[in-house]
Amino acid sequence: MHRTQSPCGARCPNPVPLLTGTLPASTQLTTQHQRCQEIFTGTKDALLGSLNPEQAKAVVEASSKRGRVWLTTVPFQPSLRLTDFEVAAALQLRTLAGEREAHCTNCGETNFFGHPEVCLQRRFRRVARHEGAKHIMGQALASTPGTRVRLEPLGHQTSRRNDIQVFSLLGSQATGLANAEYDLTVVSLANKDARATKLPEQDNNPSRLVNKYLDSVADHKVRHRPTSNLPFHPIVLSLGGMMNGSTTKVFASWKRVMTRGTYNLMLKRLSLCLLQARVRSFEL
Ligand SMILES: [Zn+2]
Repeated sequence: MHRTQSPCGARCPNPVPLLTGTLPASTQLTTQHQRCQEIFTGTKDALLGSLNPEQAKAVVEASSKRGRVWLTTVPFQPSLRLTDFEVAAALQLRTLAGEREAHCTNCGETNFFGHPEVCLQRRFRRVARHEGAKHIMGQALASTPGTRVRLEPLGHQTSRRNDIQVFSLLGSQATGLANAEYDLTVVSLANKDARATKLPEQDNNPSRLVNKYLDSVADHKVRHRPTSNLPFHPIVLSLGGMMNGSTTKVFASWKRVMTRGTYNLMLKRLSLCLLQARVRSFEL
């Protein structure tokens, strides 16, 4: 007797027999994702083409892994919870609404998209976002067996920072992680340098534009790195969750040595931490 399976639910009057071996082995299945790819790409291009550069960059940021993972994070522990205000502000940014007032209530400047992140009157928020992200990464690294992590203490402000130092106590062969120094930079894509970054010719792809700016920040960090015997890696994140190519490689190397749970929790906490920092000075 054949087992029968209804493709549209139990009440279907004509269940289709589910037979094994009915598909030829050579059949190339087209996934739904592939089938709709052309429409998705067209919709995305039309949307990005209708936005100004700041909004287009915000869309790219919002679609990055760290830019969107907060939306699907289950708040099963206090560090993964967001307040109603944070969710409201984050959704306002995600829908490109920005702040309500046409002029900044703190400095009086035109309230362009992203201004609250770079407003000179609200600058004191920066340390918090840097320290939060640093501790999240430090904790995840420290949980790797055979690894010692040293974080630069808060208040130790020098022009040459090396925020996280990682020492492999058992050797990189055993832990998979080599001794290294990491410098963390969290930047807003609304800042003056990011807004001045341009791509050659007619290219206005927002992803490439963001990468070019973040790469330039990473290059600057490498040029001004502290004198040290340890290999140096800059970690550059945008406040909305984007990272440049070299930072992606650093995260990939961490992913190989951390357990899946540790790595995923780190990503979630980073996503929330950046979001909380981003909306802290936001006015609904
Ligand atoms: Zn302002």
